[in-house]
Formats: sequence, C-alpha cells, structure tokens
Amino acid sequence: MTVAHILAEKGCSVATVQPERTLDDAIQLLADRSIGALVVTDEAQTVVGIISERDIMRAVALQGAAALGAPISSHMTRNVATCQREATNDQIMRLMTDGRFRHMPVCEHGKLVGIVSIGDVVKRRLPTLEAEQQAMRDYITKA
Ligand code: AMP
Repeated sequence: MTVAHILAEKGCSVATVQPERTLDDAIQLLADRSIGALVVTDEAQTVVGIISERDIMRAVALQGAAALGAPISSHMTRNVATCQREATNDQIMRLMTDGRFRHMPVCEHGKLVGIVSIGDVVKRRLPTLEAEQQAMRDYITKA
C-alpha cells in the first residue's frame, strides 16, 4: 500500500491557510472541517509550514486567549516533513512515529498534492494486522 493508493481512496483535497491569518482563523477552519492540522502555504501555493491543534493549544497555554490574535506564522512548524506518492504506508507510519506528528503533506515537484494523517495510515494497516493475527492463530491451533 502506497500513499498514492491512500490518496486515490480518500481524495487529494488539502485544507490550507495563509501564514498571516490568525490562530483564531485556524481554529475556525479546523472546527468547520473536523480536522487536526492545516498546511500553511504562500501565494505561490508553496508549503511554508504546518499548524496543528497541538501548536494552538501550546500557544494558548503559554499566552492565554491573547494568543488567538497572533499570526499563524508565529506558532507554526516551519520545517515540514513531506512525502511523495510513492512512499509506502509503513514508511510514513515510521516517519510519523519517529517525528511524533500525525500529519504528512504529500508533495510532487514542490507542489502540494494531498495529505495523509495517522488515522488514514492506521485504517489501512488494520486489515493486514488482523490477517496476520488470524494466520498466527490458525498456525497455533492446527499445529
Ligand atoms: P500533530 O501530531 O500533527 O498534531 O502535530 C504535532 C506537532 O508536530 C505540531 O507542532 C505540528 O506543527 C508538528 N507537525 C505536524 N505535522 C508535521 C510534519 N509533517 N512535519 C513537521 N512537523 C509537523
């Protein structure tokens, strides 16, 4: 299973936001779409950062409600890990686990073409795990 397969199933739409918008705007977008992160892009649609619910929670914990008026650029992560369509499910699961993040934008020739979340990855991994578990049970009971 590759990222291309996941995107073919779930679609390629990505929620983006501009860096000069505020954390309050980000919260509204996240709530409206029931998602956990927004990819931050400039006018050329180049990825310049990512802001997740965790960044907003941290900003509010440190600065209180005043943080909600701050620009997204001041709280986003700038060094964004991205992957390509050819990456496998297992590879991105490893990258997310090691990097401790749950969202992975997909880029092709420097342009954003989709996003994969940890939920997308785990959902596709479960049937394989269940099949492996069943094979192990069969092996044990028939031995
Ligand atoms: P998340 O688990 O996705 O809510 O994000 C946890 C932290 O990792 C936040 O500080 C995010 O800004 C950051 N983050 C999320 N996705 C990525 C990514 N693909 N590359 C780098 N940092 C990320």
